[in-house]
Amino acid sequence: KNYQPSLVRYKHIQYRKCGNSGLKLPALSLGLWHNFGHVNNFENSRNLIHTAFDHGITHFDLANNYGPPPGSAEENFGKILNQDFKNHRDELIISSKAGYTMWDGPYGDWGSKKYLISSLDQSLKRLGLDYVDIFYHHRPDPDTPLLETMAALDLIVRQGKALYIGISNYNAQQTLEASKILKSLGTPCLIHQPKYSMFVRDPENGLLDVLENEGIGCIPFSPLAQGILTDKYLNGIPADSRVATSGIFLNENHITSETIEKVNKLNELAKERGQKLAHMALAWLYRDSRVTSVLIGSSKPEQITDSLEALKNITFTIEELTRIDAILKL
Ligand code: NDP
Repeated sequence: KNYQPSLVRYKHIQYRKCGNSGLKLPALSLGLWHNFGHVNNFENSRNLIHTAFDHGITHFDLANNYGPPPGSAEENFGKILNQDFKNHRDELIISSKAGYTMWDGPYGDWGSKKYLISSLDQSLKRLGLDYVDIFYHHRPDPDTPLLETMAALDLIVRQGKALYIGISNYNAQQTLEASKILKSLGTPCLIHQPKYSMFVRDPENGLLDVLENEGIGCIPFSPLAQGILTDKYLNGIPADSRVATSGIFLNENHITSETIEKVNKLNELAKERGQKLAHMALAWLYRDSRVTSVLIGSSKPEQITDSLEALKNITFTIEELTRIDAILKL
């Protein structure tokens, strides 16, 4: 079946400037970590991308290792691009990354120039693209000089294989050092991708300040704590949930009674605000203007349209924020 993108796709969502750059990102972006591998149903993956793009989500986030098997999310996304988006490449911001284990031997992991350059070349082949819009170093490498990794990112931009570069999972100090090097090389860091949600608040301890001072955008990942910050686990583990279907990065051990107690209380507060918990959890991230875009995952197209509802109420009273902090500290 031929795909015709919605003609009103740009009416749904806000686009926000990424740090000090000229690039705008949609308030919500879609990540392809889960639900796009060869283990998943291809037509569902394709529908997820269509639904996102039809609602103005222009940014799709990948990595070399997304699948499973590793690489298959890029292959499937490449297939979808080729089938349905031939005339829309310039409306898309596509990112990929390297930094975690991708192939055997000393050159398929971490942060050497050898790994980053080879990995991006492989990613471009799988995606069927000449360039990605954003290329990330996926995690800091304690054994490679930061200058080598940053120089590789700078080279990638100069070679035209990426338009912008980003870093992920770097702490505040590592981010500051990386940013200084990148500025000196002439390729400023566009964006940082940290884990950030009501349950994981590390970026508040210095990272967001560094990003602001350095003019770097911020795109939090796992904003729903992989689905825990929704109402789905309040009465057990649904058969179609990530805990039941994937179980590698999220499993039953994460669904503790302490966590569910907090989720229950947050759920009540969300109801008082006239929102679902998923909406409140996403909205809560925008209370900090340094957050550029929130990077969601989705297993079903309806979850994308549901998550977009969050944008209808992103303001919090001081009292609500204080109550949320108190619940999280329980
Ligand atoms: P989320 O915290 O948004 O979790 C997504 C999951 O939550 C979905 O797959 C779905 O799970 C459930 N869900 C989503 N929306 C709703 C909804 N409206 N109502 C109910 N349930 C919902 O993010 P992810 O953990 O998936 O991460 C998002 C992206 O971030 C990744 O795809 C990847 O691009 C990036 N990422 C980056 C990392 C890094 O190191 N840089 C690490 C991890 C992620 P289900 O239906 O299956 O239960």
